[in-house]
Amino acid sequence: MSNINRKVVLIGTGMVGMSFAYAALNQNICDELVLIDLNEVRARGEAMDLNHGLAFSSSSMKIYFGDYADCSNADIVVICAGVNQKPDETRLQLLQRNTQVFKSIVPRVVSNGFDGIFLVATNPVDIMTRVTYELSGFNAAKVIGTGTTLDTARLRYLLGTYFEVDPRHMHAYVIGEHGDSEFVPWSQAIMAVKPINEMLEECPDQYRMEDLEKIAADVRTAAYEIIKAKGSTYYGIGMAICRIVRAIFSNENAVFTTSVRLRGEYGLRGEVFIGNPCIINANGANRVLELNLCEEELEKFKSSYRILDENFSSIQF
Ligand code: NAD
Repeated sequence: MSNINRKVVLIGTGMVGMSFAYAALNQNICDELVLIDLNEVRARGEAMDLNHGLAFSSSSMKIYFGDYADCSNADIVVICAGVNQKPDETRLQLLQRNTQVFKSIVPRVVSNGFDGIFLVATNPVDIMTRVTYELSGFNAAKVIGTGTTLDTARLRYLLGTYFEVDPRHMHAYVIGEHGDSEFVPWSQAIMAVKPINEMLEECPDQYRMEDLEKIAADVRTAAYEIIKAKGSTYYGIGMAICRIVRAIFSNENAVFTTSVRLRGEYGLRGEVFIGNPCIINANGANRVLELNLCEEELEKFKSSYRILDENFSSIQF
């Protein structure tokens, strides 16, 4: 990847896509940002609106409405296009509709010579990432989904509040499907240097597993809650996409619970893309980190994996 001109093409300039774009502009995340959407009028308007903020930003980013030919020399294609989740609709119910959307996007990106990294946020994100992998024919390392990155951020924020510690020092992860079967492997959760399980043992009057399970449930249902309150969720995921893009451009080797294809971890070698801690750098999903899960957690992970596999198999391409 050339870092001389960091170029991102964003496909899907709805709420999520534009939250990412706005964060990208404010964080000066790339040099060139191309906006593509089925709704060309909207994408043009979004490009104009963002450009009018340039004078107030520390960035000299080139932002413009474009088309698929712009993918040819892009480093990263971010896909946020699709149909949104309705109240009480599960992410998996979106699957069939969004597969059709991706069939009109991914082959066009590839046929225009794109050779960079796909970053997918559209739901159901794990399956849409696998759909992107299948439609593109790319190496799995170059196809990444946001997975449970946002859920992990929500978890760390809530744990930070509970333990009264900066969330950046809470090392706990949400893994599995970005959806109803996701879970927190508490055996792997650490506050700075101290395992959470030790905290529970040492201060049973102050900290309880039932509180932690309530936090995990709140994380799992956060999207439903926000959608009920304001229609959809976008700022958090926009920031998460931005953070992953930065890790790629800066070759950071940063760890996120992105949706990635396993390479034999947990004894799983299929084609499923699933949220799990992964080292992200300029090559994409560089290394998947296998957690030392207890038996019950491993069973939950495998069950989530099966759900994703079964749902992918139900797609009519
Ligand atoms: P939105 O409706 O605001 O935007 C979707 C955009 O996609 C629209 O502008 C639409 O015109 C465009 N689009 C549709 N079909 C297209 C096509 N064939 N080609 C190009 N563009 C097309 O929706 P949103 O709120 O921005 O959500 C986008 C996606 O992100 C949804 O699938 C949503 O569920 C998902 N999402 C994911 C996470 C996560 O954690 N991964 C969080 C929130 C939302």
